[in-house]
Amino acid sequence: MEHQRLVVIGGNGGGMSAAAQARRGNPDLGIAVFERGPHVSYAA
Ligand SMILES: Cc1cc2nc3c(=O)[nH]c(=O)nc-3n(C[C@H](O)[C@H](O)[C@H](O)COP(=O)(O)OP(=O)(O)OC[C@H]3O[C@@H](n4cnc5c(N)ncnc54)[C@H](O)[C@@H]3O)c2cc1C
Repeated sequence: MEHQRLVVIGGNGGGMSAAAQARRGNPDLGIAVFERGPHVSYAA
């Protein structure tokens, strides 16, 4: 089976919400989040 991957640019509210929602929809999805700053959102 083809392994799906998602790349998210930006780890603030928008990016982490998108990543969390995608993971809920597909627990096997490979997700990489790139954030240029020192912190990412943890309450998305
Ligand atoms: C002056 C002001 C006041 C606000 N006050 C409030 C408030 O009181 N309450 C409220 O709920 N909302 C407030 N907002 C709105 C809130 O900040 C935004 O709606 C929210 O932060 C948007 O989140 P976002 O993830 O979409 O974008 P952003 O917060 O802009 O996050 C984008 C992220 O992407 C990263 N990024 C960008 N380019 C790259 C790159 N090339 N590579 C890697 N990472 C990258 C950035 O470092 C950043 O972390 C305010 C906005 C402004 C401008």
